[in-house]
Amino acid sequence: MTSRAPQLIASVAASIALLLPAPALGQEPTTPIQSAPLQLQPAPADPAIAAALSKITPEQVRADIATLVGFRNRSTLSSLDSGLPPGTGVLAAADWLAAEFQRISDACNRCLEVKRDDFVETPQQGPTARIVKPTRIVNVYAVLRGTDPAQADRRVLVTGHYDSRNSDNFNTHDPAPGANDDASGVAVSLESARALTQSGIRFPATIVFATVAGEEQGLNGSAHLAKLAKDEGWKLEAVLNNDIVGGDTTPDDPLQDKSAVRVFSEGVPAGTTPEDLRRIQTVGAENDSPSRELARAIAEIAASYFQPLTVHAGPATPGHARSHLVRQIEAFHPVLIFRRDRFLRGGDLTSFNQQGFAAVRFTEWRENFNHQHQDLRTAEDTNPDGTKGQVQYGDLLEFVDTNYVANVARLNAATLATLALAPGEPENVRVLTTSLDNNTQLAWDAPKGFPEGGSYEVVWRDTSAPTWTEPPIGFFDRLHPS
Ligand SMILES: [Zn+2]
Repeated sequence: MTSRAPQLIASVAASIALLLPAPALGQEPTTPIQSAPLQLQPAPADPAIAAALSKITPEQVRADIATLVGFRNRSTLSSLDSGLPPGTGVLAAADWLAAEFQRISDACNRCLEVKRDDFVETPQQGPTARIVKPTRIVNVYAVLRGTDPAQADRRVLVTGHYDSRNSDNFNTHDPAPGANDDASGVAVSLESARALTQSGIRFPATIVFATVAGEEQGLNGSAHLAKLAKDEGWKLEAVLNNDIVGGDTTPDDPLQDKSAVRVFSEGVPAGTTPEDLRRIQTVGAENDSPSRELARAIAEIAASYFQPLTVHAGPATPGHARSHLVRQIEAFHPVLIFRRDRFLRGGDLTSFNQQGFAAVRFTEWRENFNHQHQDLRTAEDTNPDGTKGQVQYGDLLEFVDTNYVANVARLNAATLATLALAPGEPENVRVLTTSLDNNTQLAWDAPKGFPEGGSYEVVWRDTSAPTWTEPPIGFFDRLHPS
């Protein structure tokens, strides 16, 4: 383990607007003003974390997804079927997940506690009900206890849903491979667990690796787990939900981008009370929710562990300038989407948001709806390139890019590790306003277990900047005139 002090991405819930006097028209400004502050420089990568990420392989991701597809139909409703062939259905998948977490644990001297959150969901009412009988749902999760007794009650969690479905919600017999939706997200939980438990890093805070069911019937598994977390008083600081992170590989789709993963975060928190809402409106904090600050932290952590750009020069062609062939290829990176989820769609992050926890959703850049919630079949349809032909439907492993899933898993593991190594969130953060002037003073209290020699980094951004930035040149001079 490195002795470097853990980097903290301080999510101080205050952004400082700069009120610079604008020069009159036709008049030169008296001091140079850097109008667009630069993106914050990424923290240096922690070599121990980087080494752990290098252990995540597309081959292991493929093995995870192939095993899950092998359960044939992981519909949550298949837990009601007594006539399923052995080794198929959602409960067989749950047993395998528990066994796999146990194997990962055995490889680290039983460092994980493998648990089942096993319950019966009550039927839903109305014509759109997707659970019509009492239905058993099993969440499987593994806990890597923090090594610092003063900080072990702090938790970060990664999750994906292992249930699947085909075209008909109630069809529990025909194949529903769910390779992308969402065996890919389950692979992220499993591979994060494998990499971090084998890293040798001692994490002061606790990491939870979760897999849930019931997502396709109304987020039932995650709702139960989030409520359990709340009822048991988990100090859950971050939830990373991975759903459809397979990097769909439909041939001839020119708009897919394997370098980008979307990270969704809510604005006004789902669990906001009327009192909280008044405070948010008063200080204009609609864009400062804990979930959004988590998304911003992910963007910074990504910049530490993925090379920012690679420049690719195409082959020289006689008689042609080469310069137009030079392309900048962006390394793997998150694209922050400032919405709770995609339009009219939802995911397990919302269950955690509703219990008051910061939670974000990772999803591939461009989804292909022929490969989600569809019966396996081929039919005449339009290809991505506009031509007509036989189109394969169904959520098959052949449309998943396991290199892409491995990158998503690395970003998740880097985030879990960075947050679990960092000091806890500063408490009681406030802006001191007793003397009304143009300076801003922030104050906060150290949380329980704050490490000796630890520190926080205070960051800022223009209110219109999406992520934290370097201050404009001269900012300090204006803040503290000498
Ligand atoms: Zn899903």
